[in-house]
Amino acid sequence: MKLLQDLSYAELNELVGRYGEPSFRAAQLYSLAMRHKEYEEATNLPKKFLVALSEEYYATALEITETYRGKDGAEKYLFSLRDGCVIEGVYMPHNYGDTLCVSTQVGCRMGCVFCASGLNGLVRNLSAGEMLAEVLAVNRLHGGTPEKRAVTNIVLMGSGEPLDNYYNVTKFLRLVSDERGINISLRNISLSTCGLADKIRKLADSGLAVTLTVSLHAATDEKRSALLPVNRKYPIAEVLDAVKYYFAKTGRRIIFEYALAEGKNADVKSATELAELVKGINCHVNLINLNYVKERGMRGIASGEIKEFMQTLESRGVSVTLRRSMGNDIGGACGQLRARYIAERGASPKGAEAEEEK
Ligand code: SAH
Repeated sequence: MKLLQDLSYAELNELVGRYGEPSFRAAQLYSLAMRHKEYEEATNLPKKFLVALSEEYYATALEITETYRGKDGAEKYLFSLRDGCVIEGVYMPHNYGDTLCVSTQVGCRMGCVFCASGLNGLVRNLSAGEMLAEVLAVNRLHGGTPEKRAVTNIVLMGSGEPLDNYYNVTKFLRLVSDERGINISLRNISLSTCGLADKIRKLADSGLAVTLTVSLHAATDEKRSALLPVNRKYPIAEVLDAVKYYFAKTGRRIIFEYALAEGKNADVKSATELAELVKGINCHVNLINLNYVKERGMRGIASGEIKEFMQTLESRGVSVTLRRSMGNDIGGACGQLRARYIAERGASPKGAEAEEEK
């Protein structure tokens, strides 16, 4: 079975042609898909056509099967995909816009030592339509339509490494910013990567000028490799070269993410190393106090130490903020909800198909 939400407007046009339907049906189907509606909710399409179509395509790529509401207004969702895999997303209302944190893979193979998403490795890439459906489902849940959006900003910071799923992620960026669809501007989208330098360059050349966020987390190769194994393949110097290229091509300021981990990267010396490293790059540093992940056993630091780390950066001219952590009471950190779901249900990380194989 295929997914209607994977299709661009042009691809839908071809599809209706294949079914011998007039081309205005493409607009009707597109409207259905962008509203995250099921075939039964379509009022203006012929029954026979819908029945035939439903044998080849799912109307929606996923369903929201669990919702958790945090005290701060954040919401966390468990999405169930059509093959039984689950992924998660977080909705964060902000005064500048309502942001959805989108997952790009089921699991992850980057193996960052503090992260819950990679606990069971990579299961599979998400398709462009599955990522789009995360946005459309939450938009609908909050009463939004493509014309009046309830989701206005997107961060690709959920589970998965977006640049490890380059083709589908860039297709998703085109779908979600399509003027005929939900039309979320690329300016309102951030893509977070652990630093796949070659793909950062490729993205720079693609013309999809999203905000690039790089998970730096340490300023020396020794410390960074101990936290992010990917650093052995793409050491810091290569990542920074790619980042400079990205800025030169897009003019978008780079964001560096830096999660403070007790005993690893959070001392004053690390702060001075960081300030030295990013000197001369048009960037902003986003500090996050590490979210405790039980299976990883690593912790963040005390607020006094965070302040000291920040001041060390500020006094050296680095633009820095501490990221307000939202949804802490509902397992806001990447992959935590899915990991809990798998542990509690004794479910397979691979979903229903894998269960059947057993
Ligand atoms: N793979 C991408 C995007 C997903 S993770 C990336 O690496 O950037 C989004 C951000 O959350 C990354 O900066 C990641 O390093 C960070 N992160 C993961 N686990 C965390 C934890 N336990 N506490 C704080 N930040 C975490």
